[in-house]
Amino acid sequence: MVDTHCPYCALQCAMTLTPSGDGVQVAPRDFPTNRAGLCHKGWTSTQVLRTPDRITTPLVRDATGELVPASWDAAYERIVSAVRRAQVQHGNDAVAVFGGGGLTNEKAYALGKFARVALRTAMIDYNGRFCMSSAAAAGNRAFGLDRGLPFPLADLGGADAIVLVGSNIAETMPPAVQHLAGARGRGGLIVIDPRHSATASLADDGQGVHLQPLPGTDLQLLLGLLHLVIQLGGVDESYVAQRVSGWDEVRAQAVAWWPARVMSATGVSDQALRAAAQILIAASPAAGGRGAYVLTGRGAEQHAHGTDTVTAAINLALALGLPGRQGSGYGCITGQGNGQGGREHGQKCDQLPGYRKITDPVAREHIASVWGVAPQDIPGPGRPAVELLRALGRPGGPRVLFVHGANPAVSGPDATVIRERLRSLDLLVVCDFVPSETAMLADIVLPVPQWAEEEGTMTSLEGRLLRRRRAVQPPADVRDELVIWHDLAERLGARSSFPVEAAETFAELRRASAGGIADYSGASYDLLADESHPVHWPVAIAAGTPRLFLERFATKDGRAKAVVPTVASVADDVRPDAALYLLTGRVLQQYQSGAQTRRVPELVRGSGDNYVQLHPLTADRLSLEEGTFAEIRSARGVVQARVRLSADIRPDCVFMPFHYDGLVNANDLTTSAVDPISAMPEFKVCAVDVRPCDQANPVSRSLAEEAV
Ligand code: SF4
Repeated sequence: MVDTHCPYCALQCAMTLTPSGDGVQVAPRDFPTNRAGLCHKGWTSTQVLRTPDRITTPLVRDATGELVPASWDAAYERIVSAVRRAQVQHGNDAVAVFGGGGLTNEKAYALGKFARVALRTAMIDYNGRFCMSSAAAAGNRAFGLDRGLPFPLADLGGADAIVLVGSNIAETMPPAVQHLAGARGRGGLIVIDPRHSATASLADDGQGVHLQPLPGTDLQLLLGLLHLVIQLGGVDESYVAQRVSGWDEVRAQAVAWWPARVMSATGVSDQALRAAAQILIAASPAAGGRGAYVLTGRGAEQHAHGTDTVTAAINLALALGLPGRQGSGYGCITGQGNGQGGREHGQKCDQLPGYRKITDPVAREHIASVWGVAPQDIPGPGRPAVELLRALGRPGGPRVLFVHGANPAVSGPDATVIRERLRSLDLLVVCDFVPSETAMLADIVLPVPQWAEEEGTMTSLEGRLLRRRRAVQPPADVRDELVIWHDLAERLGARSSFPVEAAETFAELRRASAGGIADYSGASYDLLADESHPVHWPVAIAAGTPRLFLERFATKDGRAKAVVPTVASVADDVRPDAALYLLTGRVLQQYQSGAQTRRVPELVRGSGDNYVQLHPLTADRLSLEEGTFAEIRSARGVVQARVRLSADIRPDCVFMPFHYDGLVNANDLTTSAVDPISAMPEFKVCAVDVRPCDQANPVSRSLAEEAV
């Protein structure tokens, strides 16, 4: 029996794995975040270990275009010669790396080092850019530090009010719903979502308020809430005076967002807005309440103005005096399993381990000393994910790409362009354990272990370090990424050593992170072995820091910075000929691009095929019925999906899950527009036209392909 944590989301539910026969049994463990709960994905997680199409040997594309089994030496040889050729002809940045928010801390760290020291390229970024980067940017700007939840999740239980802005945790991380019980029982759950989602329904029957704005208008809605907090006397003036800078400008902006103006922008009534503001004010410590939390999810963040939307949420929390106070606060609900740790140790194009800036000379010197290289040998900042992926194979762009723990062929915005760019490369190398859609485009696929077959650490949504433990051995010819990077670094003549063991890599990571914002130096595998002793970063000493900002924020002056957000419309606005907004999101049984969960029969039976959700009034207007097929067309692509009717969605929107590939990939429709600060794409909203279609002719294609 081995105690570990679920492979999927950032809740990192605790579980025990027991090998039995030819399978591995899963049992939930009691733990502060999941309290002995698991969702359907967690219960079935070990089935992916035995998936029939598991990749168990290196695959190399041969002269006929087929991926065929090859030796590790042959695969390495081809990789090294392609890297050398590309860099001689086009410079070091002709080789790029795309990482993932599901990699362990050790692998996230080693991948950043591999890119900069072995490949000597600045071109590294990762799929976490798609997930939390706007909240990270807003958190850094306001608090001087980005840790998703700067408090333990269990703290939510004591609050009178919890605001969820664009988060559907009832489907994405169901065990976390337990922590909403206190606020729901006191009528204090406020859910902001264009759909009456499973989470929004938790506010029904007097348990709170659901605000259902037009997509892309969360920022205006939050300004309206702040306006009412000011008007109703809910501002914690003493907190603002002592702990916040920039408040006067933020107040001046919010004063101009009166309820009628907010209603005209968002469609949310004065009455609903006022009810939410009153709940928040009553819950705030200044009014004698038990406390309140403002939490953001991808619905607020995945926009071309996501950083400013999160900033508006932070401003609301600051006005109420919540951040940096026990029992209250602001937080971002991280999505990917190691979305937190994965963004701290060097996978981001502008970052070095310990959440250090790559442009900071002191940081460069410190990391160079740990890596045994000269500071000037560490490349500067590279390109963020969308820009990097769209530059592949173009003049001046990368010619060789390594992909680790990601499936951008499905999960990238405007995915048909990304697939086209992946196909244009001189060499695509993908490390994976299943033939994901990206792996199937690769020239070389290297088989790697799955979560239950590896050792390492993860950092959960509350910044808590957790041990991931090996319960079973991987197939014989599978190699750990740490070994792969070590072998390739040696063949490329890297001037630094690459440990092959997770524990050794963690020891190096601790030294690299020492003194940084995300300081792990006081942690150790021994310390993390005892889960009754929680370790949240920063952990320069073994005690760790469960609650941040109680004395001061991590800014230079110790005050939180209230920033005036810029109000903008969605990047892909509704045109007269495309009268609906498409929203994308998740369903209970699937995870991210679905590369793992679409291989679990039980989950596939539960979620069914992809679908498009419409309001019955919209369907009636478009002559669509439940179960028929609709064609959904944006300025970038066209897909078909089966119609599901629901009054839970606004009549001016349609919804599609984004977990599916091929003919029904919602990301063939989404826009590549990105936030100017975080470079996070606007996954959440794009203009579409929807019409009936012939189910016998399912298609998914870019408009360019259609024209051919
Ligand atoms: Fe828990 Fe998330 Fe795994 Fe579900 S997917 S069991 S919520 S960690």
